[in-house]
Amino acid sequence: MNYKYDDKEYMKNFIDGNKINYLIKNSNEPDLKELTDILEKSFSVCDALSIEEASKLMAVKSRDKWELIFSYAEKIKKKVYDNRIVVFAPLYASNICVNNCLYCGFRSQNKEAVRRTLSMEEIKKEAEVLAGEIGHKRLIFVVGEHPRTGAEYIAGALRTIYSVKVEKKNRINNIRRVNINAAPMSVGDLKIIKEAGIGTYQVFQETYDKNLYLKLHPQNTPKSDFEYRLYSHHRAFEAGIDDVAIGALFGLGDWRFEVLGLVCHAKELEKVFGVGPHTVSFPRLEKASNSAYDGVKILDEDFKKIVALLRVSIPYSGLIVTCREKPETIRSVIPFCTQRDASTKIGIGAYSERYSEQALKKQQFELGDTRSLEEIIGELADMGYITSFCTAGYRCARTGDHIMKMLKSGRESKFCKLNAVLTFKEWIEDFAGPDIKKKCEKLIMKEIKEILSEDQRFSIDMKKMFFSYYQKIAEGERDLCF
Ligand code: SAM
Ligand code: SF4
Repeated sequence: MNYKYDDKEYMKNFIDGNKINYLIKNSNEPDLKELTDILEKSFSVCDALSIEEASKLMAVKSRDKWELIFSYAEKIKKKVYDNRIVVFAPLYASNICVNNCLYCGFRSQNKEAVRRTLSMEEIKKEAEVLAGEIGHKRLIFVVGEHPRTGAEYIAGALRTIYSVKVEKKNRINNIRRVNINAAPMSVGDLKIIKEAGIGTYQVFQETYDKNLYLKLHPQNTPKSDFEYRLYSHHRAFEAGIDDVAIGALFGLGDWRFEVLGLVCHAKELEKVFGVGPHTVSFPRLEKASNSAYDGVKILDEDFKKIVALLRVSIPYSGLIVTCREKPETIRSVIPFCTQRDASTKIGIGAYSERYSEQALKKQQFELGDTRSLEEIIGELADMGYITSFCTAGYRCARTGDHIMKMLKSGRESKFCKLNAVLTFKEWIEDFAGPDIKKKCEKLIMKEIKEILSEDQRFSIDMKKMFFSYYQKIAEGERDLCF
């Protein structure tokens, strides 16, 4: 069968680099009225901004105006997703790679890397630790690009992970959603992983600046095809995958170019499929073992601007901050974000095996935040955020254009809150140690009070159902969601 977006003819570069460069150079700082109009539009309509509007926000110089942007970014996050932060863990399964991305520790010419690909049995062990010992419900499964770790391997891994059920305190703990970060694939291959139950398909463009892209991804490697990568998400939609995730690796080039590139990408997906990206990622380049590219430094203060600009420019998308960043950096951007990872390990087989310091140095890059899930939950609670283990989405048919409408109208936030409280309660019952339990229970009570007091957002029937679910969870039932 022939698929449209497998055909090079339909892969035209929709990133207008000249226009982006022009806007970066020539956009003037908006006055307060113009700035407020743009921010207000984003808040009330929740559509992606145009790149002209986004570039005006970028042109802001005064501290007061940036504070205004930050305050809107926080308000928008709250309106669309409430005050919950979804947590997940990455599962790195293989670092064999045919590419040679100059900045990555997995690149084929890094002769220092210790190469390894997990077997299905080893993947099972990783999932058992993540679900049974740490208490995760959601993973991102990561592999390099190699024929041995293609669609069949990924589909096998998905089935293996979903089959893991760890019994603890007479309750079953399992991974309920597995997202994938892997190389671009054909529509046929994407159908194979869709069939196996993929959550979100995530591919980062790395840089939207084609000239820079070609310099960093050597020509004789599959990844050197800029357009094939750019259409990864088009092919995913064509394969029937509803949730796709985009991202750029900040620190390869000018961060302003990448923000506008991400906005163009989101708008293109909306235009063609009526659905924008489920999430947007903004990893910052970290020092990788034997890296062949130093990149450009992104200051922490610019990083905060990047995240706030993405929140305001693509208001309906989830934003993911990762443990590449240090705890203080994460704290500064968490008010704009919807997801973060926790208790992260990025060595291959690292959750289930203890391995040497030397092997640690040979992982993809160095982590900034190595704290446990429990520590992170405690910090989020101190900041007034509830940790959510919600994996509803697919399982409650809230994906694709359906969820887009819900997000833009602010109607999804009520489900975010209810599912956050229910899944948080599960985690407290099953995993919280005595020190943190009290703090978590206090937060849950505050959330429940809020639910009780908001009659407009939560109907009487909804409240009744919520309390019945809550009671059942306290009694040991699991996986009840809205
Ligand atoms: N091989 C697949 C690919 O390249 O799309 C997926 C796996 S790759 C390990 C996942 C992501 O890691 C890449 O898309 C890139 O953005 C990120 N990455 C690579 N090198 C990095 C570094 N030195 N610091 C931070 N992130 C990096
Ligand atoms: Fe391979 Fe991905 Fe690393 Fe590039 S970024 S070397 S494709 S694992």
